[in-house]
Amino acid sequence: MQEAAAKAEEDKAVRRVAREERKVNQERELAQKVASRELHRCRVCADKVHRGGKTWVGCACGAFWVFPACSKQLAAGAALAEHVIMCAGPPESGSGSQSGVGDSCSSSDDSE
Ligand SMILES: [Zn+2]
Ligand SMILES: [Zn+2]
Repeated sequence: MQEAAAKAEEDKAVRRVAREERKVNQERELAQKVASRELHRCRVCADKVHRGGKTWVGCACGAFWVFPACSKQLAAGAALAEHVIMCAGPPESGSGSQSGVGDSCSSSDDSE
């Protein structure tokens, strides 16, 4: 009898852990959604949120957006200038230029 009770308690604990995990996952997803939403928020009025389309003014990194109407304001230029200083550039700029680098080593020019 006691074993069954213990098993039931265990089940309950397992289910509680699963529920906690799901909650954590949901919270994490929500946080990511909020974070991505914040990235697409107009940096001037902080009111509009970019959802694709239209003629938003943005940085190549995709983390800076200004609503078209707000882009005409002086604050837009200032905000963009401020962002560009600390901007890491577009995320897919990893492909380095494959130009010959080791070419300039001592080339003995033995012309006779
Ligand atoms: Zn705006
Ligand atoms: Zn940027």
